[in-house]
Amino acid sequence: MAMIYCRECGYRHSDKAKACPKCGYVSNETLTSRANKLVNGKSIVVYLLLAWFLGVFGAHRFYAGKMETAWIMFLMTTVGFLLVVPVFISAIWALVDLIIGICNIGTPENIFNK
Ligand SMILES: [Zn+2]
Repeated sequence: MAMIYCRECGYRHSDKAKACPKCGYVSNETLTSRANKLVNGKSIVVYLLLAWFLGVFGAHRFYAGKMETAWIMFLMTTVGFLLVVPVFISAIWALVDLIIGICNIGTPENIFNK
């Protein structure tokens, strides 16, 4: 069982509830349908796959249109790989992005909208 936030009033309740216990808002969207929703033509699933497989190169950030930080990650991994430490930082960064992405799988607009 997962806890979700009511889209109408923000009240936190079980995703098993048919309607929000506080305001009665009925959501007919499942987690899967929300995860499959495209935001500006982009998919959170693609984002997560890029973060997992190519995250150290900033691929997921290029995909999300966060170009400045994407280039920083890319350069830390490519140019910085001889120094080891920048690649390590880039890997941690990619992991954090991945975790944040997983937390927002039902709310992809949080990832793709600044
Ligand atoms: Zn509510």
